[in-house]
Amino acid sequence: MDKEYVVIGLGRFGGSIVRELNALDMDVMAIDSDENRVNEYSDIATHAVVADTTDEAVMKSLGIRNFDHVIVAIGENIQASTLTTLILKELGVKKVTAKAQNDYHAKILNKIGADTVVHPERDMGRRIAHNVASGTVLDYLELSDEHSIIEMRVMEKLAGRSLVELDIRANYGINIIAIKRGKEIIVAPDPDMVLEFDDILIMIGHDNDLTRYEKKMAH
Ligand code: ATP
Repeated sequence: MDKEYVVIGLGRFGGSIVRELNALDMDVMAIDSDENRVNEYSDIATHAVVADTTDEAVMKSLGIRNFDHVIVAIGENIQASTLTTLILKELGVKKVTAKAQNDYHAKILNKIGADTVVHPERDMGRRIAHNVASGTVLDYLELSDEHSIIEMRVMEKLAGRSLVELDIRANYGINIIAIKRGKEIIVAPDPDMVLEFDDILIMIGHDNDLTRYEKKMAH
């Protein structure tokens, strides 16, 4: 049987999750306390329900614990977001992903048992900052507080040189895990591989090392 999802809070973030899950043919229940928002999703979600998710009795009556994964996309109202998350975990929902508004909010969500905490605005802000600052960083994915994966375009400076020659691992402690060349992806590239202009390096490392390398590439 397909997995069943619930999205609570139909702002831009929650709404876009409902749309994408629907496009992927997944069953999704969309919940919001605002009737107008719920009406917008009545044709997109499998079920669209008006409910205040801080009311435990209402959550029980919706059979929320039978769903595989609940996404709490309430951001602005931190009290509603944390109380909703708490109720979901108390009712035994296995997987809860919650959106945090700021670092304090994230801390609380983690403490009360959210399985995954996401910071879409902060993360997108960071990605864009890296992208505009270096001009060569195409994408940036945070793995933990200290480690990330970045995608970096090979410019003139690196083209024609081999991985051994650059020795990014010894010089920066960064590992190149794959190289994208056109449509091809070369996983665990050979150290003798010579880089071409417009190749994309997929690199993993400590944030401090990645930043050091990005700065070097920007000059
Ligand atoms: P976004 O940044 O994703 O556009 P937003 O700014 O529109 O979100 P948020 O405050 O993050 O709004 O809340 C998202 C939705 O959560 C709103 O539509 C709001 O009605 C809903 N919401 C807030 N509290 C509750 C609650 N207790 N129960 C159900 N839905 C709620």
